[in-house]
Amino acid sequence: MLYQRSSQLCAEAEQVIPGGVNSPVRAFKSVGGTPIFVKEAKGAYLYDEDGNKLIDYINSWGPMILGHAYDPVVNAVIERAKKGTSFGMPTALETEIAKLAVSMVPNIDKIRFVNSGTEACMSAIRLARGYTNRDKIIKFAGCYHGHSDSFLIQAGSGAVTFGSPNSPGVTKGTAKDTLLAKYNDLQNVASLFEANPNEIAAIIIEPVAGNMGCIPPSDGFLEGLRQLCDANGTLLIFDEVMTGFRLAKGGAQELFGIKADIVAFGKVIGGGLPVGAFAARNEIMNYLAPLGPVYQAGTLSGNPLAMAAGLEMLKALNNDANVFKRLDEKTAYLEKGIREKLEAAGVVYTINRTGSMISVHFDASPVTDFQSASNGDNDTFKKFFHGLLKEGIYIAPSAYETWFITDALTYDDLDATITAVEKVAATL
Ligand code: PMP
Repeated sequence: MLYQRSSQLCAEAEQVIPGGVNSPVRAFKSVGGTPIFVKEAKGAYLYDEDGNKLIDYINSWGPMILGHAYDPVVNAVIERAKKGTSFGMPTALETEIAKLAVSMVPNIDKIRFVNSGTEACMSAIRLARGYTNRDKIIKFAGCYHGHSDSFLIQAGSGAVTFGSPNSPGVTKGTAKDTLLAKYNDLQNVASLFEANPNEIAAIIIEPVAGNMGCIPPSDGFLEGLRQLCDANGTLLIFDEVMTGFRLAKGGAQELFGIKADIVAFGKVIGGGLPVGAFAARNEIMNYLAPLGPVYQAGTLSGNPLAMAAGLEMLKALNNDANVFKRLDEKTAYLEKGIREKLEAAGVVYTINRTGSMISVHFDASPVTDFQSASNGDNDTFKKFFHGLLKEGIYIAPSAYETWFITDALTYDDLDATITAVEKVAATL
């Protein structure tokens, strides 16, 4: 495959945009080469500026659960745009999507829409701090909750891919209120509570981690966090920006049967438009302005185009009783195929998967936390990535990312992917 035009476009972009990209994970810095410039996408496929067709396993980092340019979403956006693109005033549409979201997700009474997952998580911890009147939060090494200051402490995703899990620019004052724990290590979390009695406002966690590759919670881990929170008057925040409306209608809360106090959403809830949201039961949400003292706002929050897109997306997921089962089956099929091919080629690997989130780590030992995720062989990953790309398969350009499976993938696409893995595995 040729990437001449992408290379030219990247060089041009680099003159006026830092690194040529508006979000670092899009750059190919850790795998080498030129980021691919997309021209358009439909269903499971990307079409780039050089005329290549790629099977997409990023899917806009999650939201394209039903495929790119999903007709009901596209049509809703077109129709809505004709009636005005922003008012900064309430619309009936916002209530409609809020009602639907509240009906799909357990343990929430009210929801507020924002413009990104970053905003959702940032607002969720402010609300937790205001509600509990405490300052500290616990986050897990390798988890990513957007780029707001409190979270850029041992952060995953692009922050770790590009070597700045603790970003310069985050003040010591802010950093001291973020306590760092090991994913899947309850004892470690318990010791933070012992060392900081009555000071911890919230634990924030990706209930299935997706930003250090995919790492599922070990048995009893989320239950243990729930108990620790209850025992210490601390709120449990599930960052469901990736898992929400993907692992189940009600996200990880439903899948694992664990109650969170605040839930953050992103991506999916906007059907690919810039949307995030956070939600909780009444007593917590009523703490927000204009009802309560915790301030949070946004000119474009609840934007009509974004709400129209999100509503169609949620309706489609809510009305299709089998979509999550289909996604799980497709991903299980892919997992089985990849395992067989890597094993046959004698490649050392670990695959982690929960539902339609999956990742391949090039290391034999179990990958259960940030430390074990960091042990993967990045040289092998680079070869794997570029080998797949040559075969027309596009996975995230970093070993610290998860593959997101879309229902638009056919079993032929999955077979083509498995065959590509077989070819590439022979070269590793
Ligand atoms: N939380 C999680 C779990 C995420 O994966 C992301 C983005 N990948 C965010 C928060 C931040 O969302 P956004 O990029 O929309 O700001």
